Amino acid sequence: MARKFFVGGNWKCNGTTEEVKKIVSTLNDAQVPSSDVVEVVVSPPFVFLPLVKSTLRPDFHVAAQNCWVKKGGAFTGEVSAEMLVNLDIPWVILGHSERRSLLNESNEFVGDKVAYALSRGLKVIACVGETLEQREAGSTVEVVAAQTKAIAACVSNWADVVLAYEPVWAIGTGKVASPAQAQEVHYELRKWLQENTSPEVAATTRIIYGGSVNGANCKELAAKPDVDGFLVGGASLKPEFIDIIKAAE
Ligand code: PEP
Repeated sequence: MARKFFVGGNWKCNGTTEEVKKIVSTLNDAQVPSSDVVEVVVSPPFVFLPLVKSTLRPDFHVAAQNCWVKKGGAFTGEVSAEMLVNLDIPWVILGHSERRSLLNESNEFVGDKVAYALSRGLKVIACVGETLEQREAGSTVEVVAAQTKAIAACVSNWADVVLAYEPVWAIGTGKVASPAQAQEVHYELRKWLQENTSPEVAATTRIIYGGSVNGANCKELAAKPDVDGFLVGGASLKPEFIDIIKAAE
């Protein structure tokens, strides 16, 4: 069953108004495969969401980088799923490793966030991935399976979820996983979905790779059968993001 290629750009905590306008303008001018072939979603910091939403080409979509675990209220500094829906933001990234490690977001907390975001009608890019220590200890599959289990427990409609495999040792380090390493984990994740959800969910859910993807390494990664796209950090701020989108062809 065909899975539409998915390319997400995670801008993290970067950018000024001028820089954001420049990135949007580069994206708007780019010749890329049609939205029948590739789904493109960029994720600016919260404060730039309205600007990006209102100026970005209509065939590209916008994601928030996080949202609060339940209904908004007395949670200083947080942004609720309802607010994102109010701004017509369709996607949210949840469980990014920087939040798991720097802000101590546990598997269960990420699962609760996924549940609440989905319940409000958002679509979720849910991130999993092992640390270098865990990889070297041989526990990669066990770690990503436990993270996926906590997410899966909170998902009733997998059509609204993209699973992002992002090995922590590859994020922002320039050390990209080899195509074989990425394929191996994606294969295991799809097998996990097959055994724990349904064959249909396993066949249709996009599993994307993130971690030092750039214009030079994207084609080889994209050629792997279980790599359905990318979540891109650093390179999503640069014109080479266009080349990564074109890896869908
Ligand atoms: C990310 O933050 O999701 C990411 C993959 O970052 P980078 O591409 O910079 O490694």
